[in-house]
Amino acid sequence: MSPAEELNTAVFPNWCPGCGDFGIWAALKNAIVQLKLPLDKTLIVYGIGCHGHMVNFLNVHGFEGLHGRPLPVAIGAKIANHELKVIVIAGDGDTLGEGVGHLISACRGNHDITCLIHDNQVYGLTTGQASPTASRGHKSKSTPEGTLDEALDPIALTLSVGASFIARGFAGDISHLTEMVKAAIGHKGFAFLDVYQPCVTFNKVNTYDWFRQRIYKLEETYKPDDKKAAFARALERDRLPLGIFYREKRSTFEDGLPQIAKTPLVTQPVKTPDLTGLLQELT
Ligand code: SF4
Repeated sequence: MSPAEELNTAVFPNWCPGCGDFGIWAALKNAIVQLKLPLDKTLIVYGIGCHGHMVNFLNVHGFEGLHGRPLPVAIGAKIANHELKVIVIAGDGDTLGEGVGHLISACRGNHDITCLIHDNQVYGLTTGQASPTASRGHKSKSTPEGTLDEALDPIALTLSVGASFIARGFAGDISHLTEMVKAAIGHKGFAFLDVYQPCVTFNKVNTYDWFRQRIYKLEETYKPDDKKAAFARALERDRLPLGIFYREKRSTFEDGLPQIAKTPLVTQPVKTPDLTGLLQELT
């Protein structure tokens, strides 16, 4: 059994055969093994969606939050114990829809967390309604005449609100995706990784072939330190870039908390305040 396979649980994934989730699962396991992440100091927080089932298939401490809410759980865990490596596995419907406010807040704060989005343009778990990244006109059960909304662009959004690492991968290219996951996890600060993840059952438009005809890798000469250049690449529509769009060094939210400068909150003694004076004042 390979080291990556040792991260499997006894439960084989119940994703549809061919689902892009398998590629993300494989890349994440590769990254955890290659980075030698200590499993006793690694936490993965999942949202609700097909992606969230991964909590059952990956033998790493995990917590499945509410729909759209994996980021606040992850931020709380990171502040409580900033020695943890905290990774969020989320969906486009989950964290770019109901949870998008939490995503913006996490970017602005530069919380030291990695957030990986399964971007398949639909709500797969609830049988294929259009998600926020679906193109205008996308026909689904919830939008039989085509969605009237413009698609949300996760790369442009996170660039505009201050994420300090922004990248994109493709579930059909596991070796490249592994490198993207490793770079995101290795980044100090909020790392956002959008992953094209074909939903083979409910999205018959954005298929593996559809992506393969459009994706390309950012050139080696591309320098991810120029926000304007990153925006220009993010806004490309006919061709879809993969790679690291933007990366900057910036102090993190946790760096700004003197309360955890010496030791994590979870190791600090809990002091019971003396309320005697206050109670006497109120009686
Ligand atoms: Fe994957 Fe779509 Fe099946 Fe969900 S419904 S497991 S996203 S193929």
